[in-house]
Amino acid sequence: MIPYGKQTISQADIDAVVDALSSDFITQGPKVGEFEQAVANKVGAAFGVAANSATSSLHLACLALGLSASKRLWTSPNTFVASANCGLYCGAEVDFVDIDPDTYNLCPKKLEEKLIAAEQANQLPDVLVAVHMCGQSCDMAAIGRLAKQYGFRVIEDASHAIGGTYQGEYVGNCQHSDITVFSFHPVKIVTTAEGGMAVTNDTELAKAMENLRSHGITRDPAELKDVNQGAWYYEQHALGFNYRMTDLQAALGVSQLTRLDEFVERRNQLAQRYNEKLASLTLTTPTLLNDCNSAWHLYVIQLEDPSCRRRVFDTMREQGIGVHVHYIPVHTQPYYQALGFDWGQFPFAEDYYQAALSLPLFFDMTDDEQDQVVATLSEAISAAQDAR
Ligand SMILES: *Cc1c(COP(=O)(O)O)cnc(C)c1O
Repeated sequence: MIPYGKQTISQADIDAVVDALSSDFITQGPKVGEFEQAVANKVGAAFGVAANSATSSLHLACLALGLSASKRLWTSPNTFVASANCGLYCGAEVDFVDIDPDTYNLCPKKLEEKLIAAEQANQLPDVLVAVHMCGQSCDMAAIGRLAKQYGFRVIEDASHAIGGTYQGEYVGNCQHSDITVFSFHPVKIVTTAEGGMAVTNDTELAKAMENLRSHGITRDPAELKDVNQGAWYYEQHALGFNYRMTDLQAALGVSQLTRLDEFVERRNQLAQRYNEKLASLTLTTPTLLNDCNSAWHLYVIQLEDPSCRRRVFDTMREQGIGVHVHYIPVHTQPYYQALGFDWGQFPFAEDYYQAALSLPLFFDMTDDEQDQVVATLSEAISAAQDAR
């Protein structure tokens, strides 16, 4: 089976993990800080706060931004459920903004329309999670402008987008947002097996996330309420969690990160090759905006005839091609339907979903494997059209 995504692990990665394993600290040692610094430096942010997953990082980011019951989080329906669940973890109300059908990203025009209506109803959002679908940045300048105008905070869910650029700079510099979150799950661009990181330029947000990552406990003498205690002493100031990353994971991350540009460059090459080889088929290839360089976590096509999708998908899987579908619109999940959402509310995300198919794309994929994907897809589409 050619999978839709897969990690690439070098001997240097293995050596880095083995070294960490035989060091004094396999968690809460020096590697996590080193990884945080490396990611922050790479993407141009001041601080990095690592966690055991991007889901945890999104939760920490929401908490640091003060999200709580009676507050509101908005995000795109075209994302993994974690981008919305982080709002529910905080007890906040979650709502969605439909996508731009060209980029598959949250649409700033629809955002503005919804903000105008929300302002009149006195229901403006407190936090917006902007998801960089497939690795291409949202229109962050437009989103940042609306955030200032309407007074909400912005988290970039860049789980797909480490190594991608927006207006010539790496995603994650937080020029138009408060916090950016990356995922290091094995199917993403860079991996730590499981892991995530929030980057920010705001000292207070970084401190809050660091504190909540580890039980809400502090040992910092400058923060202690009682300073007349021994070296054993710590204080809990908030209700935090154990969301810590291990040093083994961070060692893998540091080693992986040195190849980020190489990873993204090969993904770009493969995406260009798909664009060329799929041009004559009855489908739409991804649209790339001028001011973006995608990190190409995913390569999603849309079939011209959505009624063929199931048949094409099944045929591809039978032929050993691990196609996938990203994403089932979050608001249509049974859990979200029980909260009051339903089909028909975000038609662009729903139409996109009906036609979408993710093709295999990963660093170690060979040109031959890619040609096999294209040939199988071409046959599968013809067969599905004939069978209608
Ligand atoms: C993968 C992913 C997440 C969650 O990442 P984990 O590290 O697996 O928790 C969140 N949002 C998006 C858009 C993702 O693709």
